[in-house]
Amino acid sequence: RFDEARKTLISRLKLQQHKADENGDTERKDVFVAHELIVDDPELIQSVRKKIIEHKYCAEWALNGVFDIFINMMERMEDEYLKQRAVDIRDVKRQMIKILMGREDRLDFSNVSNKGSVIVVGREFSPSDIALTEIEDVKGFLSEIGTATTHFSILAKISGIATVAKVDGILELIKHGDLLIIDGSTGEICINPSQKEIEKYKKKQEEEVVFNKELFKLLHEPSVTRDGYKVDLIGNIAGVADANSLNDYGAEGVGLFRTEFIYMDRQVEPTEDEQYEIYKSVLEAMKGKPVVIRTLDVGGDKEIKYLNMQKEDNPFLGYRAIRFCLNELDFFKRQIRAILRASQFGHAKIMIPMISTVEEILETRSIINQCKQELINIGIEVENNVEVGIMIEVPSAGLISDLLAEEVDFFSIGTNDLIQYTMSADRMNKNVSYLYHPYHPAFIRMLKMVIDNAHEKGIKVAMCGELAGDVDFIPVLIGLGLDEFSMNANSLLKSK
Ligand code: PEP
Ligand code: MG
Repeated sequence: RFDEARKTLISRLKLQQHKADENGDTERKDVFVAHELIVDDPELIQSVRKKIIEHKYCAEWALNGVFDIFINMMERMEDEYLKQRAVDIRDVKRQMIKILMGREDRLDFSNVSNKGSVIVVGREFSPSDIALTEIEDVKGFLSEIGTATTHFSILAKISGIATVAKVDGILELIKHGDLLIIDGSTGEICINPSQKEIEKYKKKQEEEVVFNKELFKLLHEPSVTRDGYKVDLIGNIAGVADANSLNDYGAEGVGLFRTEFIYMDRQVEPTEDEQYEIYKSVLEAMKGKPVVIRTLDVGGDKEIKYLNMQKEDNPFLGYRAIRFCLNELDFFKRQIRAILRASQFGHAKIMIPMISTVEEILETRSIINQCKQELINIGIEVENNVEVGIMIEVPSAGLISDLLAEEVDFFSIGTNDLIQYTMSADRMNKNVSYLYHPYHPAFIRMLKMVIDNAHEKGIKVAMCGELAGDVDFIPVLIGLGLDEFSMNANSLLKSK
């Protein structure tokens, strides 16, 4: 079993090296090469085999013990490079054990015979599965579990990939190689459609292309109502490429840069310099338009493997976002410093997720000031007045929004979370999704309270949850006085 697992991992690593090579991503390739060397390391192999054969350990236990000895040894080294190798060995250990236990977290496409465009059907997808779209021509995702506001669905939407979730029994109904049509806008699915159905959807697809072309006539029109109420249409991004699409669709800025995605799907934390380069590129791409950079929102359904955070029973109510960052100050400060350093290349704003008390924002502001001072002391230029705002996505923040408004420069309402917490209806759980909707009076009262409190204190309110791009709900939001609407690039013109 140990040898089989090694073989599986080696062939996967070779494939990943090949793909990284094709994409010109040498850094990523180097990581996969380093992992292959670990899997092939004679000393490691010998020691594990000995434990299995002589001590009669099972493969997982043998591997765990031997790899841990090497990891501990590396971690104690003075040399920073060798210390980092411990991270690689731990990662290989994790992958091997998952293979041995049949609990792999990567989607494996090696058994798909007719490669080409595919729709991936699965029980559930997690945000890191979106990386699959980088190596396969994925046109859509279909799952039994999930909702429209899981982070996986949000990422797929940003990339313009159709997703349909919450379909019971789909895994029994669909077989490898079936021809599938899924309609991400209505949730319709056709398995092995007839010629007539194929024609119907082709026509629909063509109509959509024409409709989207028509929308482009609005590109340079202002976002203003007929009676002269002007709002800002801005966008949500997960990286530099999305910033370019926002420009194509005429966004007036970035309302939410979900920075956690630059930490995910990697083996180690991005360094301060790497982060600085990314923020700088986004700011430059937006050419002076405002860019709201949200600090790391890890936790909930967003897992970053190398942070080795403990599994929790209620991750959405747990150690997430600013709660984590305020406890991991060195880590948090690396991100803040990177943002501040990049701030001179455009109009950066900092936004803090999951704030639920006044103390949290006071502490965060003091850390930001500390970082600023440290940078100035070593002669690094920092934009003087980088605005600091918060997400309003926890009911306690909404209820004390009058007090919070005195401490920050802007609010952005995170409806994906605020709906779930206000209604006590998990955004990932389809069985309670009937409660997860924005028209409940409790939620509308919450929105009104937040917007009124902010305006009373003279600050602006944006919304960056999925609701901001919901064309049916936009009139309600305008009625409530929302100032800025931040959404995926492909919702902008329709909303306008
Ligand atoms: C939200 O909660 O509405 C939001 C924008 O943040 P995220 O979806 O990343 O939790
Ligand atoms: Mg949120």
